[in-house]
Amino acid sequence: MQTNVPLWRQIQKENFHSMNALMDFLELSSELRLHVLSSSHFPLNLPRRLAEKIQKNSLNDPILRQFVPLIDEQIESFKFVLDPVQDKEFCKTPKMLKKYKGRALLVTTSACAMNCRFCFRQNFPYETKDKSFEKEIELLKEDDSIEEVILSGGDPLSLGDGALSSLFSMLELIPHIKRIRFHTRFPIGIPERIDASFLSLLASCSKQIFFVIHTNHPKELDQDVLGVLRKVLRLGIPVLSQTVLLRGVNDEEEVLLSLCKTLVNGGIIPYYLHQLDPVQGASHFEVSDEKAVSLVRFLRENMSGYGVPSLVREEPYRLSKTPLQA
Ligand SMILES: *Cc1c(COP(=O)(O)O)cnc(C)c1O
Ligand code: SF4
Repeated sequence: MQTNVPLWRQIQKENFHSMNALMDFLELSSELRLHVLSSSHFPLNLPRRLAEKIQKNSLNDPILRQFVPLIDEQIESFKFVLDPVQDKEFCKTPKMLKKYKGRALLVTTSACAMNCRFCFRQNFPYETKDKSFEKEIELLKEDDSIEEVILSGGDPLSLGDGALSSLFSMLELIPHIKRIRFHTRFPIGIPERIDASFLSLLASCSKQIFFVIHTNHPKELDQDVLGVLRKVLRLGIPVLSQTVLLRGVNDEEEVLLSLCKTLVNGGIIPYYLHQLDPVQGASHFEVSDEKAVSLVRFLRENMSGYGVPSLVREEPYRLSKTPLQA
């Protein structure tokens, strides 16, 4: 066995990629299997730990619905398109998006710990050959209006610590960059990613770091996941969360309330609740604005103000995410 392969990489190798293997693991009846897509342009990619949380022989599980391709993806809807947020229009390079004042977003990698069926970037033309960030660093140096660099993707935690560390050292040499923000879902699937090596990388960074996780259901947040996020918090790094509102997953008052309470009890601030980006194949996840607004009103009436996320939608050509009146 190779000793220099970190544990999280070994765990990641155990992800489910085969629909048949997963359906057997979930003990799905032959009747339920008819509702599952055997293949998709956006392949199955599901960490074991998430698969283990799925209720057996059911298609109504909130984790299953987020990660397992169902025939509902074949429902056609003119509103649901390949590039719903028009990322392409805002690409300064194939790996850098500049949409809002003061912030630039780096698409650090195409890889994720898990493939979410509703991912708005599932058709993004990822640059996979050139893995360096030379062009991006040049642009960041030239534009002193940029104070914050967002590491997104794909999932930035798919990069190894070596790659992250060299990216950090380049960013640290740019004085006008004050903050580095992670957008990641990795710890939900593979909390082992937040290991001693990664934590020491965070601790050694001279810029203020913000750590934003993507989580949609309280079942995703077990003690291991919350435990590693607590270690990030202890470094003086704020941890926030983003949630996508999804029909059949979290569009219920009690589910969202439990999600927000679990987060704040773990020291994590709910930042955004996103209305779904209308990407092709995801129309079955759509929740009406009216319902979204009423769900957030319920949250506001039932918990601390800091535990209520802002309800927003991403619209191309706006100066910020668009808040919905709640
Ligand atoms: C959402 C987003 C950001 C971050 O916006 P905040 O409101 O600061 O969280 C930055 N760049 C792009 C391209 C985005 O889509
Ligand atoms: S983790 Fe984020 S980027 Fe990756 S598939 Fe899910 S939504 Fe898309």
